[in-house]
Amino acid sequence: MLDNEKFLSRNIIEIGLSPEIKWPGKGEQIVIVGPALSGKTEKLAYLLDKVRFPKNKGYLLFSVNNEGKYGRTKIRPFNGSPKQELDAIAVFKPEQIVQSINKLPICKRVIGIDNVHLFREEFDATLLEKEEPKKIGLGVVDLCNALFQRGFRVIVTGTDLNWQGFPQRNVLDIVAFSTEVHKLDAICDCGQKAFRSQLIINNNKESFKPVCFEHWNPNFPNIENSIG
Ligand SMILES: [Zn+2]
Repeated sequence: MLDNEKFLSRNIIEIGLSPEIKWPGKGEQIVIVGPALSGKTEKLAYLLDKVRFPKNKGYLLFSVNNEGKYGRTKIRPFNGSPKQELDAIAVFKPEQIVQSINKLPICKRVIGIDNVHLFREEFDATLLEKEEPKKIGLGVVDLCNALFQRGFRVIVTGTDLNWQGFPQRNVLDIVAFSTEVHKLDAICDCGQKAFRSQLIINNNKESFKPVCFEHWNPNFPNIENSIG
């Protein structure tokens, strides 16, 4: 049976943006995916830089930070210089992006979102035992779609596979709805192309590095200099 509510929500997405904020006929949705350190943020910075030079900065950049911080931050591409830093707003919920856009006195047409895979979807705890638990709040897929439909040029980056090699559902859904997809690769320490990310735990801090299949261990993180 057709889930009519879901069908409608995919076609007309209401996310709480002010009605006057729209750019008729101009929408684009661009997604940049790949493993850790594959240059996704650099590519995003490059695409945003094209609209940076006009007197008014033509974009608004968000950086997903699941540690709950919300404020101004700087995004510097890996190996980039301070000159290449971009101002970004740290967010941990898609709703904060809507709030920021609504608050702006002058609307920006280009919206960048770095690391969309870091958004955590919240579920109704009372329904967790059921087959399809109900999501709470705005999802990033609907956010991107709605901005695209309102005529924004939405450019997002995300890791499409987690370190264990499982596809990240939100990122794949964004890929499906996008008008332009860039899939990047990286280089493993051994010099081969890297298509996966390895979780590294160094002194209890997590980081990721790109690895080829030979140097990828999806079952255990690499432990380096771990204390106790
Ligand atoms: Zn390798």
